[in-house]
Amino acid sequence: MAKATLLFTAIFSFSLLSDEPQALVNIDITTLSPKDIREFQSLDVDITYIDQLRGRMHALISPDAAAWLAHRDVSFTPMIDDISAYAQQLYQSGYFSHFRSYPQMLAEMQEIVDAHPRIASLHDIGDSYLKTAGRGGYDVWALKISDDIAEDDSSEADVLYMANIHAREIITPEVLFYFIRHLVDNYGRDAYVTHLVNNRELWIIPSMNPDGHEYVFQGDPEQRDRYSPLEPLWWRKNMRDNNENGIFDAFNDGVDLNRNFGFSWGIDDNGSSPDPTKGTYRGPVVFSEPEAQNIRDFVKQHQFVISLSYHSYSNLWLYPWGYTHDPLPERDAAIFEALADSCVFYNNYLAQRGADLYLVNGDTDDWLYGECGIWAFSPEVGHPDYDGFFPDTTRILPLVQENLGANLYVAWAAGAEPIVEY
Ligand SMILES: [Zn+2]
Repeated sequence: MAKATLLFTAIFSFSLLSDEPQALVNIDITTLSPKDIREFQSLDVDITYIDQLRGRMHALISPDAAAWLAHRDVSFTPMIDDISAYAQQLYQSGYFSHFRSYPQMLAEMQEIVDAHPRIASLHDIGDSYLKTAGRGGYDVWALKISDDIAEDDSSEADVLYMANIHAREIITPEVLFYFIRHLVDNYGRDAYVTHLVNNRELWIIPSMNPDGHEYVFQGDPEQRDRYSPLEPLWWRKNMRDNNENGIFDAFNDGVDLNRNFGFSWGIDDNGSSPDPTKGTYRGPVVFSEPEAQNIRDFVKQHQFVISLSYHSYSNLWLYPWGYTHDPLPERDAAIFEALADSCVFYNNYLAQRGADLYLVNGDTDDWLYGECGIWAFSPEVGHPDYDGFFPDTTRILPLVQENLGANLYVAWAAGAEPIVEY
C-alpha cells in the first residue's frame, strides 16, 4: 500500500482534473482477476499494452484510476509521469519530422508511381470521415505493386498490407513505406522481389485513418488548450462527430475503427464500448464509419489470400479469433500457426491468438477471416520496454527493417504452394 500511495501522490501532485488520464504507468497485474481488469478498464483508462504471462500492463491513467489501484494495493510505476509535458516536448523537438505526414505519404506514392509506372499504380479507395462531412479530410489511397499493372490478373494471388487504423500508431506507415521502397528499388535486380512482383498483386494501404493520423501528427496547439491533455498525441480513433455539434471534441468524438467491422460487432461491452467517450467506442451501427466501409468495399472487390494490419506496440503477431476463446477449426488453426511462426522467425515477435491478449469484437481480423476467408494478421510493432507508440528516432530503421522479412514472406506464402501439408 505504501509504495502505491507514495507514487500516487508523486505522480498526481499537479493534477487539476481527477478523471482525465495524466500518466502512463506500468502496472503489476498479478493480483488482479479478469473481472478486476474489466472493472479497471471501465474507469477512464487507456490500456496500451498487456502481458498476461509476465503479469503486467501499461495504461494511461487518471488520478481516479490511480486511487482505484492504490485502494486494491496494486503496485504501479510511472513510465511517463506527465503525458501533457511529454507531448509538448515531442511536438517542440521536431520529433515528427522523422515520420511521414499523410500529405507526404501521398506525394511519395505518386512519385513512386511516376518512377515505376509499369509495376506501381495508385488507387483512391474512398473518403475519410472528415471528407464525407465536408470538414477537410482526405482520400484514402492504396498503392498496387505488380507486373502488368493495369490488369487484374486472377491467376496472381492478392495480398493486402494495411497500417495506421489507430491514429497514434505512427511507426506503422513507416513499416509499409520501407517495404514499398524495397520492392520498387529491387525489382529486376533481386530474384525474390522480382518473382513476387511478377507473380502476386500486392496492395498496400499505408494509412486507413488519415484524419486521425494528421490530428496526432500536427499536434494542433489550439486543440491542446481546448481539450483534454490526453490529446492529440495519444489519439486512437477516427474523427467522427459523435455528439453532432459540428466541431471536433476529443472528449466526446471518434470511433475506434478496429471495433467497427462486421463480424460479431458489439456482441458484448468488454470487447468494445457502447460509450462514445471511450477509446474503444464501436460506433452507432456496424460499419458506420467511412474508413471501415472503405476497407470492406475494397476487400470485396478483390480475392485477398493473406492480410496484415499493422499496429503498435507490443512485439506481437496476432491472429483470430479476437472475439472469443473458442478454438478455430483445426485445419485453419494449423495454417494460422504455421504462417505466424514463419513471420515471427524474422522479427522474434510472439505469435498468439488475439483473444489470448484480450477479447475484442468488431476488429478487422475477425471480419477478414470470418467473413472473407482471409488469413488475417495484426502485427504489433515496438518493444514494450523501450519503444511504445513513440520510439526513439534511432529505433525507426530497426523497427521497419525487422518487418521486411515477414512482409516478403506473406507475399510468397499467398501463392499456389501449399502452406502446410494437412
Ligand atoms: Zn492498434
